[in-house]
Amino acid sequence: MIKTVKGCKDIYGEDIEIFRSVEKVLRDSARSYGFKEIVPPTLEYSELFQRSVGEDTDIVEKEMYTFTDKGGRSVTLRPEMTASVARAYVEHHFETLPSPVKLFYIGPCFRYEKPQKGRYREFYQFGVEVLNDESPYLDAEVIALAYEIGEKLHLKDLKVKINSIGCKKCRPHYKEVLREALKPHYEELCDDCKRRFYTNPLRILDCKRESKALKDSLPKITDYLCDECRAHFEKVQKYLSEFGIPFETDNTLVRGLDYYTKTVFEVVSNDLGAQNAVLGGGRYDYLIEEIGGRHTPGLGFAIGMERLIEVVKSQKSAQNEKEELVYIAYGKGLEKEAYLTAKRLRSSGFTVIVDSKGGAFGKQLARSRKRGAHFTVVIGEDEFKKGTVQLKDMEKQTQTEVKKEELTEAIAQISESKNGAKESNAPRK
Ligand SMILES: [Zn+2]
Ligand SMILES: [Zn+2]
Repeated sequence: MIKTVKGCKDIYGEDIEIFRSVEKVLRDSARSYGFKEIVPPTLEYSELFQRSVGEDTDIVEKEMYTFTDKGGRSVTLRPEMTASVARAYVEHHFETLPSPVKLFYIGPCFRYEKPQKGRYREFYQFGVEVLNDESPYLDAEVIALAYEIGEKLHLKDLKVKINSIGCKKCRPHYKEVLREALKPHYEELCDDCKRRFYTNPLRILDCKRESKALKDSLPKITDYLCDECRAHFEKVQKYLSEFGIPFETDNTLVRGLDYYTKTVFEVVSNDLGAQNAVLGGGRYDYLIEEIGGRHTPGLGFAIGMERLIEVVKSQKSAQNEKEELVYIAYGKGLEKEAYLTAKRLRSSGFTVIVDSKGGAFGKQLARSRKRGAHFTVVIGEDEFKKGTVQLKDMEKQTQTEVKKEELTEAIAQISESKNGAKESNAPRK
């Protein structure tokens, strides 16, 4: 038997339903803030990620699906999408568009990581990018959008963590200060951090293998920001307070990617275990220059769809929510009537399956039960002549004759009273 490639998966059944509904929330939210969609290609030249994501990152060092194509060029299945959006910005002269340029994306990304629960080698990311504007108002607005998405998806105990990691003027100095402070602890560091000590000591702050005690003892970057970075960070915090977004500063938050500057943030929720990040992002004022464009400030965030789907799924099973499924059984030669009835119900938002085999009503009803239908609409020859149908409530095992034109309303009424009853019976939390 041929199986899916290791670390890849089919999305089907309940998962794809949740995927599409989450996707709708994300798209609608982004659009309401003026973001327009962009769909970059899945394949890019490897150089794009080497120059943007950075050579000294786990992604570029170990996790990229990079290969030489038949023309001898090195190409990569994108490990993230910000670099692609930045490339598109330069390539298509988006600097001629009114600023800020607001773009959102959703699509598959690839990383060669050890597959584990909820982590796949092919995964979907949604994200937004704001380009060509350095106003701290936008940092706060993008964080507000991220928080709002968490609220719309009913994530529990949402909180925003923010930090500033400075700019080209102030970060190099902090790196030196940090190195000095880390020197006496060099031998205690993990192998990756021993290397990061020389290449990018900031990354040691978010290494999970280093102790909290060590991290707490280190100098804080926010004490070493230049005036510009400090003023920017203060304004972002002021706006967030004014917008009513709960946040806290976290000096160990540096994000994994090299291209971030100034504001970095995460939205965390208790839905994914203890204070897990649902999304992360930040400002990247040098990214466009890195890949050969003019100086262009930018910022954004990305969300992994798989995590959101896990969370929404666990909420759903807790609520025991069901969608109403209507099954249509019909007498000989009444296919057209069955189809038209289904069409009317579908246009009112019901999910409808029409029996395709026909035959005895008993057999059709058995198939309806097997499908897990909540209602079966039976169109017999007598009913057809009278302009009525039999409506069966599969749960209560009751049957009523209703007029054709009143069918939609009848089903809506029964399902509403059921859901209402369920709600009032539910224990209070
Ligand atoms: Zn600075
Ligand atoms: Zn480490």
